[in-house]
Amino acid sequence: MKLFNTLSREIEEFEPLEKGKVRMYVCGPTPYDKSHIGHARTYVVFDMLRRYLEHRGMEVKLIINLTDVDDKIIKRAKDFDSWQVVPDRYSRYYFWMLEKLRVKMPYTFPKVSNHMQEIIELVETLLEKGYAYKTSDGVYFDVSKLPGYGRLSRVNMDDPKIARIEPSPEKRNPADFALWKFRKEGEPFWHAPFGEGRPGWHIECSAMSSRYLGRQFDIHGGGSDLQFPHHENEMAQSEAAFGTKPWVRYWMHVAFLTINREKMSKSLGNIIGVDELFDAFPPEVVRYYLLSAHYRTQLDFTWEKLKTAREQWAKVVRAWYDVLQRKEQGIYGKDDISREIMLELKGVEEAMDSDLRTPEAYAKVHMIASLVLGNEPDKKSVEAALEAFRVIDGIFAFLPAKGWTARELRLAEKLADLREEFRRAGRFDISDRIREDARKEGVLIEDTDEGPRVKFVPKGKED
Ligand code: AMP
Ligand code: ZN
Repeated sequence: MKLFNTLSREIEEFEPLEKGKVRMYVCGPTPYDKSHIGHARTYVVFDMLRRYLEHRGMEVKLIINLTDVDDKIIKRAKDFDSWQVVPDRYSRYYFWMLEKLRVKMPYTFPKVSNHMQEIIELVETLLEKGYAYKTSDGVYFDVSKLPGYGRLSRVNMDDPKIARIEPSPEKRNPADFALWKFRKEGEPFWHAPFGEGRPGWHIECSAMSSRYLGRQFDIHGGGSDLQFPHHENEMAQSEAAFGTKPWVRYWMHVAFLTINREKMSKSLGNIIGVDELFDAFPPEVVRYYLLSAHYRTQLDFTWEKLKTAREQWAKVVRAWYDVLQRKEQGIYGKDDISREIMLELKGVEEAMDSDLRTPEAYAKVHMIASLVLGNEPDKKSVEAALEAFRVIDGIFAFLPAKGWTARELRLAEKLADLREEFRRAGRFDISDRIREDARKEGVLIEDTDEGPRVKFVPKGKED
């Protein structure tokens, strides 16, 4: 299996440090506002990676942190009685989104406020080893002390923008960054041997990843905006403190989801919250859409594209429902397409093995759907298709729950028989109405040589 590594800018063979076990850390949200569809993309992609690694027989220990101590949280806290209220309220949106999108539970969601001891110890180590220094407003990391600083993001170190990220007149180098910020009036603070205050932006991820994954691990991910300064600085302080190089074996970044090619941001007023999204489309369709583009290409959102995705998704679901229902009712055809189905499934795995090329994998999934819908699969082929859909859903998790119960199926069959009686009696007004009403409920009544047959079809929200 191959993955693109941001550190080398190359597609590399993936081999975990410990055979069969993958340790993975994904930077989590700063819960100061509702989660939006951009966040959804990043976490759904890493969930798919996790699922795919598991499909390939690996055990995955995934950590996603929650940045509950941060400038944005503190700013937002002015609207509430205490800063703790902010992450408490807004992380609910995040968890709700993950659940709706079928993101599997990580090992844990560690919070900064629960890991102060680890953070403080890490800052102390960096001070002791001479990589950090104190100023009047905090403790800073001295980037000139670490050879190779900048090699992850490959930013131009002479860019004047770098100094503006964390301006401070006492800094030794423009790229130096705060490990600890000394106490300020009205801000939360913690006691530390080097002075009361709170952590800087990056130190939490080094402290929490080493707490749960050790001082070296396999995959570190996030959105592409995190390459600099966040991940560059995480890497610098971790290599300095732990002496492990590379600290992380594979760095992975998900390209941004944009609107009209612009970044989604509050100031531009172009944010699409996940609640708004799920009101209009089933979460399965959203997940299908988010994974349809390769994770390293920008995905420009439009409602129109989401609608198109729903149509494509519905075809896959129709095929899945078809074989599911055939098995349930024991209705089999004469076509043996089992070999073709298994071949296409192999194609899905090949595409995924090659840096998670979902567009190619989706094309193979559609081939399977076309095979099912364009033939009358025999028993063996129905079994093969069910197995293929089980694997596909295990990786992509975009199939909805089975859309009927055994009782609904029986009722639908009775309705179809009733319609048949009216039709035979020439009461087309009634028989047509039954068919139309059933269709509105997602039940198609089809006439076949063996009599009427009912078929359940997936329902999208807007129908
Ligand atoms: P934040 O809460 O802003 O720190 O973001 C949490 C995660 O979501 C980070 O990994 C970001 O890179 C990612 N993210 C934020 N906005 C987008 C977007 N528009 N597209 C993809 N990922 C995003
Ligand atoms: Zn991080």
